[in-house]
Amino acid sequence: MLSVATSSRAGGLSRREAWALIGAEGAALEALMAEAVAVKRARTGQVVTYSPKVFIPLTTLCRDRCGYCTFRKDPGEAGAHTMLPEQVLAVARAGAAAGCKEALFSLGDRPEAAFPEMRDTLRALGHRTTLGYLREACALVLRESPLLPHANPGVMGRRDLGALRPVNVSMGLMLENVSERLCAPGGPHGDAPDKRPSVRLRTLEEAGRLRIPFTTGILIGIGETWEERVDSLLAIRALHERYGHVQEVIIQNFRHKATIPMRDHPEPSLLEMLRTVAVARLILPDEVNLQAPPNLTPGEYRWLLRAGINDWGGISPVTRDFINPEAPWPELRELREVTAAEGFVLRARLAIYPEFITRREEFLDEGLRARVAALADDQGLVPEGRLD
Ligand code: SF4
Repeated sequence: MLSVATSSRAGGLSRREAWALIGAEGAALEALMAEAVAVKRARTGQVVTYSPKVFIPLTTLCRDRCGYCTFRKDPGEAGAHTMLPEQVLAVARAGAAAGCKEALFSLGDRPEAAFPEMRDTLRALGHRTTLGYLREACALVLRESPLLPHANPGVMGRRDLGALRPVNVSMGLMLENVSERLCAPGGPHGDAPDKRPSVRLRTLEEAGRLRIPFTTGILIGIGETWEERVDSLLAIRALHERYGHVQEVIIQNFRHKATIPMRDHPEPSLLEMLRTVAVARLILPDEVNLQAPPNLTPGEYRWLLRAGINDWGGISPVTRDFINPEAPWPELRELREVTAAEGFVLRARLAIYPEFITRREEFLDEGLRARVAALADDQGLVPEGRLD
């Protein structure tokens, strides 16, 4: 087994090094995690961030059928809905009243391509596409609330990304994994055309060309190999090295749910999660932030700090996690205590990370810069005391 001491930090781990380290056990795993935390501390010091947000599930209709998803619905199914503008605004205003800063739009992928019902809904709303309606909803939140939109609507083309950029401070698309194997019939992405790796990588690349601060990540434990996990992280690194736009990488663990096609599939262990997080920290460029959601590792999430994350992601005092409805977010007080007990300080951030506010403002649409600057302190974070 390769030791961390022999790994090359300049330029991040090589594929060979990462493949060797991701199987680390015992003392080798401890050393790997210590190195990952050292990298985290060298850039962001004691600070660990989270984004106070509301979750806006603009539509639960989706043309894909991922094997692990409970979010998507068919028209007429219980829980199928598309939010009206006034419903969007009501959630945003409730979030603002509770101190939230981010409006996270999460929705199904291109439902109008599969369902005439969605085409009718969009027509009634004055749109042809879900992404066109999303743009209107983001603009509405910007105009009528103090929240900053971050849209996560699935695959987007260059024109979609360009249209959404002026009304979003950042956007996101999980890569999930680069494995084509997972798209084979019967696999987790076998009935999900928008989960083809080439399609998702193209969206990530176009976002880079358009200089959009971008969130992406991998979903672990869905049948991928260790090597495919590493290769997915390397693909993200390559895109960031080319365009400099990846603000954050999420390491998300598959969670069992009773009603999903993958209900008999085992969840990844905590150990697997820690190895993946630590190796991700050493693969990715230091300026890319690393997140793992605390609610998906309940009771044990403090360990994620020991593997090198520097962000807990969006935490909402108002809305639940619609993607993992069985997993409530921890109370902010508890999150702060756990973070402090591990030697870190919890700070609120905006939906756009500090480096894109303080140093690389060309990534933010000009029309949004003054608004963002007014919400941030000189570190690019939410000023202390302004929130809680
Ligand atoms: S995970 Fe996303 S793309 Fe897949 S079915 Fe669910 S909503 Fe659709």
